[in-house]
Amino acid sequence: MECSLCGSPAVVHQRSSGRHLCRDHLLGSVESRVRRTLREDGGLPPGSRLAVGLSGGKDSSSALHLLHSIYGRRPGVSLVAVTVDEGIESYRPRTLESARALAGRLGVEHRVVRYEDVYGVTMDRAVEGGESHPCGLCGPLRGGLLVRAAREMGATHLATGHNLDDEAQTILMNVLRGDAARLLRGRVDVEEGRLMPRVKPLRGVPEKEVALYALLRGLPVSWEECPYASGALRSEVRGFLNRFEVDHPGAKYAVVRGFERAGRGRGGPPLGGCVRCGEPSSGELCNACRALVGRGFARA
Ligand SMILES: [Zn+2]
Ligand SMILES: [Zn+2]
Repeated sequence: MECSLCGSPAVVHQRSSGRHLCRDHLLGSVESRVRRTLREDGGLPPGSRLAVGLSGGKDSSSALHLLHSIYGRRPGVSLVAVTVDEGIESYRPRTLESARALAGRLGVEHRVVRYEDVYGVTMDRAVEGGESHPCGLCGPLRGGLLVRAAREMGATHLATGHNLDDEAQTILMNVLRGDAARLLRGRVDVEEGRLMPRVKPLRGVPEKEVALYALLRGLPVSWEECPYASGALRSEVRGFLNRFEVDHPGAKYAVVRGFERAGRGRGGPPLGGCVRCGEPSSGELCNACRALVGRGFARA
């Protein structure tokens, strides 16, 4: 196959546009979509400090690389990276190595925060203790810890590597679960009584193109999968969306765009403080404390 734009050998078939793209045109296409997404979000005002959640995988590594290439030399905007160590011996050490390598290569300040230090649990011990739904514990803890670490590093914004597939899956999962609160909360995460805006530079880029981006840019990426990832509903929704996208190119994009338009300018439920840890929360307990208390790792 040849690139639809220049006739060089193609590396990808971009289903949503119907085009085949060569290496350079794919890289350019990813970069211009990321710039457009950031522009649509209003960009970063001078004085911004952007914390990037860096797992060491393809998505967050591409996100950090792209954000660094866009903001790295811009005066008044600074970047830091945060890696959450969940305490999974068979998985995290190698991904941590990739994260350290990329942050070092880009010269970005990098911090590692551990569940063990903050919550007194590790995912290995939780699973050994019979935890049957590890992602249900890990998700809220990771979210809470990322925001906390970002705040401690003086960040004004928190960026994550969620791609188009992740976002479309999450939206459909919330619809299927009837979780209106989470749908309405949209792209904004709560932080100490105020909102810490979330930046998701890759939310318009399909997973396959992000993976190619990381490969073609030669980023030091770990391709390890979390040994505890189960997510039965997510894998069903992923399968459905992938099949649907074949007959209806652009469907994933439509899900994400439609949701963004519908949710724009609308906040979630009123926020108070978590009665246990004081972090902002729409209920009595924040998500992290609810996950810990519900499993007996902490008392309300
Ligand atoms: Zn080309
Ligand atoms: Zn709490």
